[in-house]
Amino acid sequence: MAEKACPRCRLITFNEQCPLCQTKTSEHWTGLIVVVNPDDSDLARELNITTPGRYALKVRE
Ligand SMILES: [Zn+2]
Repeated sequence: MAEKACPRCRLITFNEQCPLCQTKTSEHWTGLIVVVNPDDSDLARELNITTPGRYALKVRE
């Protein structure tokens, strides 16, 4: 089963629904970043990521 990503917050998950914001997830995503410490990461800040985890760079709904 392919992993999915949330179009709103870009979290990568196996769920049909994002566990963070309950948005329906999409199979169409590219790029992967791992955020360990959002407070210390400029990239996380730029992408508005506040929760540690794995995120897609681009998600199409
Ligand atoms: Zn989400």
